[in-house]
This record gives sequence, structure tokens and C-alpha cells, in this order.
Amino acid sequence: MNLPKFAYFQGQIVPYTQAKVGVLTHALNYGTAVFGGIRAYWNDSEQQLFIFRPVDHYRRLLNSSRLLHMTFTHTPDSLTQLTVELLREEAYRCDIYIRPLAYKADEAIGVKLHGLQDELTIAAIPFDNYMRDDTDVKATISNWRRVDDNAIPARGKISGAYANSALAKSDAQLSGFDEALVLTQEGHLSEGSAMNVFMVRDDVVITPPVTDNILEGITRRTAMELVKNELGLPVVERPIDRTELYICDELFMTGSAAQIVAITKVDYRPVGKGEMGPVAGKLREIFDGIVRAKNPKYAHWNVEV
Ligand code: PMP
Repeated sequence: MNLPKFAYFQGQIVPYTQAKVGVLTHALNYGTAVFGGIRAYWNDSEQQLFIFRPVDHYRRLLNSSRLLHMTFTHTPDSLTQLTVELLREEAYRCDIYIRPLAYKADEAIGVKLHGLQDELTIAAIPFDNYMRDDTDVKATISNWRRVDDNAIPARGKISGAYANSALAKSDAQLSGFDEALVLTQEGHLSEGSAMNVFMVRDDVVITPPVTDNILEGITRRTAMELVKNELGLPVVERPIDRTELYICDELFMTGSAAQIVAITKVDYRPVGKGEMGPVAGKLREIFDGIVRAKNPKYAHWNVEV
């Protein structure tokens, strides 16, 4: 296991081994935490590490924290700066994954959100691919349903809600698939276990709306912009029926950990020709240049460490 050397914990950067909480911690017992997942990419020619869209990620983290009655004096910019400082201490020279976590820190019994102490921690580890094969993912439509906005809001990245994602992911993997596609209670496509989903039908790129219990993904937003601006294809946000997944031309998923991955089969049915399609293929290429800070047009998304 590749553990970090440091973590931001209780207001300062400390050795990772000191960043510990007690077993009675509220967040550990009740899932009362929100988190983020941010990547930083190593640019070999510049010998430099670049964080991808950290300000957008931290804006979402702070919004998620508001859903759980948390208050922080941090801002998206101050959290980005803290992350830069942490990464300078770590001195990583490879692709990494950054995990901020805001949590209810009291070591106390009692289910509630108010009147508790909020803490925020950040740690980062070296990170490679998330999926077994990014260009050839075999998915299944899960028989678990996505948590609803009126149960645990999926637009907040709430730790407790990831039991829902984990149920879907493990059942998919233990049945021999790579990934789960999860439907809403109404039966529309919501998202994968930890990624948003895009479908291509007749040269239109379609993705579920933010009202279908998805996490409002930063990579989703990135992909929507790149499809429009760089591939010149229309992007439509609308509900997606289950059986559209069986007849569409292309399916791909987006996420900070997963990046852009092509789904080639759903429930044993080939997607399109049963191999990665042109939209996902081109998008992956453009995306890789942008995240490694090799595309000046999108340099405003790269924060240098
Ligand atoms: N949906 C879920 C449930 C996720 O956990 C993630 C990963 N954060 C995503 C979608 C993708 O979001 P992003 O592109 O911001 O990483």
C-alpha cells in the first residue's frame, strides 16, 4: 500500500501517521462526511505537477458540506492553496489522486447534523488507472436503485451515500462485470458507481440531467464542453431510458478517478460495434493533453504545483 507522507489535518500539515481519528467519530459511525476526488497529472517535459480544476472541485466540496450543516472559513481558493502546499511537501513526480474529506468530528453518540464540530482533512497518493481497461468496460444495469435527492442527495458527495455505490459496484464485479449502471426509482439511467454516463445516438451526445440523482461531475462538465467545442457535436441533457443503452451507438463514462472510459458491452449486448467508438476515442486524446497542461486553450483548468 502506497501511503502518503503527510496530510492536512486539524489545521496543519502533519505526518500522515498522526492524521488519525477515534473509533467513536461521528462521521465514521453515521457516514456524516463529504469528500472530493481530484487528480493531479505529471507533465514530463515540464517536470511539473498540475492539479486539474481544483477550484471547481472545492466549490462542490463546500456545497456538499452545506447540505450536511457544516460551516468552514475555507474558500475554494484557500483549499487549492493548501493542496499546493501539501503536494510540495510530498514532492510527487507522478500522477496522483487528492482526497479532501470534510467530516463531523465529535466522538459522540446521537444522530443529527447540527451543533457538531466540523473538520477538514486532505491527503494525496500516487494513482494510476481506475478501471481494468479504460477502452473496454463491460457494464451491467444494476438491480440496486440510485439514492434519491429526498433520501440522500446524490449531488452532494456524501460519504454515507457511497454504501449505495458500493452495493452496485460489488454486485456487478462479483457477477463478472466491470461496472454498474444505476437507474433512478423511475427507471431512468442515473450514473455509474462513481462516474457519470454519456450515450451517443445519431451523432448527438446525451447525458442524464442533474435532476436524475447524479453527482454533478467536474469531468462531466469538462466532457460536455469538449464535445461541443472540440468535436462540434451537440450535447443534450435529458432522461435516458434503460433500453436506449442496448441500442445506442456509443457509451462512455466520466469521472476524476476513471477519467474517460468506453463501455463496450451492457448486459452481454455489444454497444455499437462492441469496441470503443470515435467520440470516446477522440475525447480521451484531447482530455489527456488538457489535464497534463499541454493545451494552452484550457490552461485555466491547470493549477501548477
Ligand atoms: N458520480 C459519482 C457517484 C462519483 O463518485 C463521481 C466521482 N467523483 C462522479 C460521478 C464523477 O464526478 P467527477 O467528474 O467530479 O469526479
